[in-house]
Amino acid sequence: MLKEIDPEIDEIISADIKRQENTLNLIASENYASKATREACASWLTNKYAEGYPGARYYAGCEFCDEVEALAIARAKELFGAEYANVQPHSGTQANMAAYLAFLSPGDTIMGMDLACGGHLSHGSRVSFSGILYNVVTYGVCPKTHLVDLGKIRELAIAHKPRMIVCGASAYPRMIDFEGFRKIADEADCLLLADIAHIAGLIVGGVHPSPIESCHIITTTTHKTLRGPRGGMVLAKEKYGKLIDRAVFPGIQGGPLMHIIASKATCFKEALSCDFKEYAAQITKNANALAETFISLGFTLISGGTDNHLLLVDVSKEGLTGKEAEEMLYREGIVVNKNTIPYDQQPPSVTSGIRLGTPALTTRGMKEAEMEKIAYMIDSVLRKRQDVKDEVPALAKSFPIPE
Ligand code: PLP
Repeated sequence: MLKEIDPEIDEIISADIKRQENTLNLIASENYASKATREACASWLTNKYAEGYPGARYYAGCEFCDEVEALAIARAKELFGAEYANVQPHSGTQANMAAYLAFLSPGDTIMGMDLACGGHLSHGSRVSFSGILYNVVTYGVCPKTHLVDLGKIRELAIAHKPRMIVCGASAYPRMIDFEGFRKIADEADCLLLADIAHIAGLIVGGVHPSPIESCHIITTTTHKTLRGPRGGMVLAKEKYGKLIDRAVFPGIQGGPLMHIIASKATCFKEALSCDFKEYAAQITKNANALAETFISLGFTLISGGTDNHLLLVDVSKEGLTGKEAEEMLYREGIVVNKNTIPYDQQPPSVTSGIRLGTPALTTRGMKEAEMEKIAYMIDSVLRKRQDVKDEVPALAKSFPIPE
């Protein structure tokens, strides 16, 4: 149908499907959503306005939207062991925006991880609403170990008395010590928000500690390791629910995307399965295999390795910028993103590092042996300046993207 009505768009989409099929996707924040979740995204629910919440809408005809949203909320709570869930945020950034609006006033102090050290734009970057509306104190990582230094964070929290500390990151290859952060938040008498956008799938899969007991508010995306549709969510204790609901709608959003909420519900159902636990465990095994092979080849990894789904390679040691490495690899069909490394001398548009993650290739069924192969391919491209044009499609073909 799309082909007939809008052949231009249909052709572009088909080209991107081919690109996805024929390349090796190591973007740490991406994944392949299942056919079931994609079907829900394309459903008739896109037609419906459902401002409000189940049982209290501002439009007629919301009885089935109520059922969908109630199911999504119930599954989210079961999946994460949470008392409260709001599944309406359109994205991870909007989940954070709603959480800030619920608990902060403009000008309040927040503490978040520096973008250059692995934090996200919405954790207080100057160019984001978060840095524009709030007074931001950033924390980094230890320049030598590249690890979060809770001692330093405690000193900053006591000196600056933030209203909220944000923990969680976009490019941090190690575990987040939620309990350690909570001790600091209690001492500084402030709220603790965990942004688990990257590691949500690892948490529900049991391969990363959960923030549910130690953090006041939890925000996430649903499309990274959780492998659902593009979207966001907020979790918390029931007592915070009213404030968060009001902040999401009418605070920062209008009508919820009911087709996406249906798809989130399906994603949560998939993540509740035993297969998903195996999947999450394999993501971390694969990241570890990739890291070990890189180390054996003499590459420099930020923090010396990984505990989760991602690794950061310092390519300045190979005489390259992150931008150059990203482009060289993409020409061969290996998709990574340039990424700042802690205390990077290069601007964010250039960088000294590349970030690699295993969620997408693990969805394709790849295991440790394939990770080793890929590390050798990357070595060939970046160091030996050899092409791997034949090897990439062959490997991609052997592991088709599952429906
Ligand atoms: N939080 C973290 C830690 C992220 O890594 C990201 C996205 O990369 C987000 C929030 C924002 O998600 P979105 O792109 O859906 O706004």
